Amino acid sequence: MNYSIRSYLTRLTVGVFAGILLFIFLSAGIALYLNLNREVDKGLEIEVKRLAGMVHTEFSGLISGETGLSDEFIEELTEIYLYKHQFVMIAMESDSGRHVYFGGEKENIQRLLADGFLSNNDGFYNRVFNGRHYRILIRQSDFGRLIIGAENQTFFDIAAGFRNILLIGVPVLIIIVLIGGNFLARRAMRPVVSAAEKADRITLTNLKTTLSDYDKKDEFGILISTLNRMIVRIDQEVSRIRRFTQDAAHELRTPLTILRGELEMLYQEQDLPDEIGSALQKALDKTIILQKIVDDLMLLARSESGDYTLDVKIISLDRLMKDVVEDIKILAEHRPIEILTEHCDPVEYTGDESLIRRLLLNLSDNALKFTEQGKIIFSLRNMPPGYEIKISDTGTGIPPQDLPHIFDRFYRVEPDGKEKRTGSGLGLAISKWIVDAHGGNIDIDSIPSVGTTVTIRLPAADR
Ligand code: ATP
Ligand code: MG
Repeated sequence: MNYSIRSYLTRLTVGVFAGILLFIFLSAGIALYLNLNREVDKGLEIEVKRLAGMVHTEFSGLISGETGLSDEFIEELTEIYLYKHQFVMIAMESDSGRHVYFGGEKENIQRLLADGFLSNNDGFYNRVFNGRHYRILIRQSDFGRLIIGAENQTFFDIAAGFRNILLIGVPVLIIIVLIGGNFLARRAMRPVVSAAEKADRITLTNLKTTLSDYDKKDEFGILISTLNRMIVRIDQEVSRIRRFTQDAAHELRTPLTILRGELEMLYQEQDLPDEIGSALQKALDKTIILQKIVDDLMLLARSESGDYTLDVKIISLDRLMKDVVEDIKILAEHRPIEILTEHCDPVEYTGDESLIRRLLLNLSDNALKFTEQGKIIFSLRNMPPGYEIKISDTGTGIPPQDLPHIFDRFYRVEPDGKEKRTGSGLGLAISKWIVDAHGGNIDIDSIPSVGTTVTIRLPAADR
C-alpha cells in the first residue's frame, strides 16, 4: 500500500518546522546585526566628536591653512590610534591641494585610498579587509573631512560560532521531527489503514464485519462509522434479496411437485394418442429440470446466507465414490463410454455425506453429459495432509476463455453446432461451495476435444 497522506503529513510537519526555524534564526540574526551595528555606530560618532574636539582645542594651533596639519599633530594622532582597533584619516583641502593624514592601522587606510573612498558622501559605510568587517564613518568638519573606521566583527564572530552549532543541530532536529512526524502521522492514519485492510477482505459472504471500532468523533471516526453503517445497510439489502430467492424457490417447489405428480399420472394412462404421449413426456422432462433448478437455487441461497449447517459425520469416502460410480455406470449403459476406477484408497472422511455425494454426482453428471464416447476415470487417493479426488473424461473439453468463468452461476459454454445441452449452469457453482465449505479446493484442467480433469483436494479434519 502506498501511504501518501502519511508521507504528505510528515513532509508538511518537517516543512513547517524548518520554516519556523528559518524565521526564528533569520529574524534573530537581523535584530542582532542591527543592534550591534548601532552600538558600533554610536562608538564611531563619539570618536568623531572627540577627535574634532581634540583638533579644535588642543591642537588648534597646529592647523595651518597652508600645509594642513603639523607633523607633531600627526605623530600624536598615530600614537593615540596605534593600539586601538580603529583608524582615522583626516583629509584637508588647501590651496596647494589635498592632504591626507592618518593614524592607526595604516594598511586599511591605504586600501581605502586606493578605492577612491575619499570622494564618498558623509555617512556610514561597510568594508571588508582581509576577511574582517569594518564600519566606517565619513564626516565633513570645518577643518576638512574626517574619516574614522572601526572593526565591526562581533556579529560575524557570533554567527560563525553559531554556524557550527546550526550545521549539526538543525539536521539533527529535522531528523527528530521527521521521525516524530512520521510516527504521529502513522498513528493518526492507523484507523484508516486498518479499516482499508478490513474493507479489502469484505465479500458478500462476510458482510457482518465492521471496519474498525475506532469511535472517536474526528473526521476518520465519522468516515469509518459512516462506512460501517453503509455495510450494515448493504448486508440488510443482500439478506433481503437472498431471502427473496429462497422464498421464491420455496414457493415454486410445491406447485412443481404437484405438477410433476399429475403429469406422471397422466403419462401412465393407457391408450393415449402418440402425440399426447410425447407431449406429456416433454412436459415431464422440463418439469424435472425446473425442479432441479429450484432445488439448486435454494441450496445456493441457503449456503450464502449462512443458513446451511453442515451435517458432519465420519463417512467412508471410498464407499461413497463406489456408489456414485455404480449410478453413473447405469446411466452410461447404452453409450460407448467406459467407466473406470483407476485408484480407490480406503478413506474415512469427516464431512457432510449428502453434500459430498451431490458434489460427486454433479461432476460425474458433467463428465457424462459432455462426453460422446471414450472413458470417464475416477480416482480417490489418500494424500497427506488430505485426500485427492480426480474425475477425468475424454469429452468435448472446455475452451480456455471459458475456464475462468466455469464456476459462475448459470455459466454454460456456448455449444457450437446444434448440440443441445440440458443443464442450467448451477452444478459447478454448487460443487465449489461444497468444496469450500469443507475447507478444500477444486481445479479444472481441460483441453478442447481431448477432455477434462477435475481435481478436488479435501483436507483431513483430524490431520
Ligand atoms: P447443471 O450442472 O446445473 O445441470 P451444467 O452442467 O450446464 O448445468 P455446470 O455443471 O455448472 O452447469 O457446468 C457449467 C458448464 O461448464 C457446462 O455447461 C459446460 O459447458 C462446462 N463443463 C462442465 N464440466 C464439463 C466437462 N466435464 N466437459 C466439458 N464441459 C464441461
Ligand atoms: Mg453440471
